[in-house]
Amino acid sequence: MPVLLFASGGCATVAAVHPVVVSELGAPSRASALEASLSQRGVVTFERVVFARWTAGRGAFIDRDDPRTAGVPKGTEEAVIYAYVIDHPRFGRYLIDSGVSADLEPRLNPLMRRALRDLNIRVEQTTAEWLPRRASPRAVFLTHLHFDHVGGLLDMSADTPVYVGRGDAEERSWTYRLIGRPADIALEGKGPLHEWAFTPDPDGAFAGIIDIFGDGSVWALSLPGHSPGSTGYLINAVDGPKLVVGDAVSTRLGWEQAMPQPAPASGRVEAEASADRLRRFAAAHPQVEVFLGHQSRTNQTD
Ligand SMILES: [Zn+2]
Repeated sequence: MPVLLFASGGCATVAAVHPVVVSELGAPSRASALEASLSQRGVVTFERVVFARWTAGRGAFIDRDDPRTAGVPKGTEEAVIYAYVIDHPRFGRYLIDSGVSADLEPRLNPLMRRALRDLNIRVEQTTAEWLPRRASPRAVFLTHLHFDHVGGLLDMSADTPVYVGRGDAEERSWTYRLIGRPADIALEGKGPLHEWAFTPDPDGAFAGIIDIFGDGSVWALSLPGHSPGSTGYLINAVDGPKLVVGDAVSTRLGWEQAMPQPAPASGRVEAEASADRLRRFAAAHPQVEVFLGHQSRTNQTD
């Protein structure tokens, strides 16, 4: 997402906050249990879906104010808006993130619409186009509440429960005062957000770890920094474990070269810690396939 949307310094209070409840789904766990689950037979199917693409200058994805990015040449990056489908044989279908909706852009505030026009987002399919051919998800697990992750909620039935990390719903920066808060539009008329009940990981590998279904098949990982409630998901799929990191690490520059990403000043230290934890975990468990927020690990075009 564009750097404008990260340029948040201090916090400002805005009256309306979408209501939140503590999730009853999932139980706090620890890294050793997560690691043990990697060797169990995967029962969940996992599919990545492409919804849209955009092109932006590298400054949208790496922090040009940080001297460590000085060696990265100027240029653009291709970014993709993904969502992920997980099908659990017992608990059913869930989506990670939500795709895109044609109904979001017209409802945004003019500044935000201009920022989006500059991104020249090419929609390949909307969630409304994608959904009718498939079973509806029982719930949506969000990586965070930025516009390029929540838009598709507008195309889903209002009673689909939405799960998110703690703190995202309450995030109020001056940037949001300027551009409005797309998530509030996407959540209009929907029930309360369900916040994952993270507690500190006793093994210290992540800020928090939740075993979502209680069977070690799908895990939520607390990855604060990019946004206060940024959350990743580890899925023990039939074809091996998958790790969806959201925008905790958006691009290959962030993953392979450990380039710092733009982040709110208040979240910069946490953002680097979360990215480091992810890289450490992946290095220790090379069988885990990593899915970055807006790029494929391997292919420039998808
Ligand atoms: Zn984001």
